[in-house]
Amino acid sequence: MNKKGFFGNWGGVYLPEILRETFDRLEEAYQQARNDPSFWQEYLQLMSTYSCRPTPLTYAENLSKHFGGAQIYIKREDLNHTGAHKANNVMGQGLLVKRMGKKRVIAETGAGQHGVATATMAAKFGLECTIYMGEVDVQRQRPNVFWMEKMGATVVPVKDGSRTLKDAINEAFRDWVSNIDDTHYVLGTACGPAPFPEMVSWFQSIIGTEAREQIERYHGRPPKRVYACVGGGSNAMGIFQGFLEDKKIELVGVEAGGDGLETGRHAARLAGGDASPGVAQGYKTMFLQNDDGQMRETHSVAAGLDYVGVSPILSHLWEEGRVRFEAATDTEVLAALELTMKKEGIIPALESAHAFAQAFKEASDLSPEDAIVINMSGRGDKDIFTVAHAFNDPSWKEFIIERAREYQKG
Ligand SMILES: *Cc1c(COP(=O)(O)O)cnc(C)c1O
Repeated sequence: MNKKGFFGNWGGVYLPEILRETFDRLEEAYQQARNDPSFWQEYLQLMSTYSCRPTPLTYAENLSKHFGGAQIYIKREDLNHTGAHKANNVMGQGLLVKRMGKKRVIAETGAGQHGVATATMAAKFGLECTIYMGEVDVQRQRPNVFWMEKMGATVVPVKDGSRTLKDAINEAFRDWVSNIDDTHYVLGTACGPAPFPEMVSWFQSIIGTEAREQIERYHGRPPKRVYACVGGGSNAMGIFQGFLEDKKIELVGVEAGGDGLETGRHAARLAGGDASPGVAQGYKTMFLQNDDGQMRETHSVAAGLDYVGVSPILSHLWEEGRVRFEAATDTEVLAALELTMKKEGIIPALESAHAFAQAFKEASDLSPEDAIVINMSGRGDKDIFTVAHAFNDPSWKEFIIERAREYQKG
């Protein structure tokens, strides 16, 4: 990374003057933490007592036999507190907030997972918490809104634009501009202006550090390939960092193919072939946008992969050819989810199931001496409404209708 926070051609800090000092102070706090081994010790202590670190690496014996190719290992980020890798980032930023002496945190959220994780952190650290969420998402993700509010956060529905994630991000920046002194913005993924992409990736690198050690212990040597789903790119950056230096290991980022790349209804920025370079939300990366720079609507069965931009670090690794990008369609993802449940008794989040789907397409190309690692970014319990609907489960439908009737009776 050069001075201005660029990774090759990507990244940087494109912000109004008024935020410059805040970013300078954040950069300083981050560099201090990074150069202070006691900070990482405190982080490890927190993550091993409040979350479930180190998370296990599970050998998927039945799936491996089913495909008859590579030995399949699953890195279990679903076993984190709040059910996904997001805890790694928010708890790390929470410790940084403590160091900076700020009293209030704000965050954007799309599906609500990052909002819940941030509200959890704020409750634990005794911080005031405001979550910005597009009005459409507030309606779609009621259970997460419920838990955020119960943990003491204020959820603000954003009524601008498409009323989804990107609008929530813009609103969070507006809040930050007017509350610079006491507030920290807990950005949820490896995107945004520097130092966020690098800082979030640093907290998530705990995944790769553990996975590297675990796969060598269980399998006796490094894996052939590592798979991760890519929304903003934080879980992918997390696991990839354990393997980046070893050029023989192939890294595969899996984006949301939605209804299929040819339909235009997807969220595949690097695998899709129809994204272009742009500057928005404070940084430069590959965006899904129209010719006039208007951000496009994205589509995925997985709400957490539904973002128009992508980590500038991943844009760089894509351009360098170090990470291969693929897309899995909604249909492929649901099939992979069903197979993983039946064969292993594990329920991946719809986001994570993208990584599984791509790994399944490729597992039989490799030999049983080879290993692959799939990063399971989160658990699928949160997706019960979407999944039951997609599988068209009649008894689930009856259950919902019956519940609604009971409510109407009062
Ligand atoms: C938020 C989320 C993602 C996408 O975010 P990244 O920053 O790309 O990791 C993936 N999986 C789960 C379970 C999530 O909650």
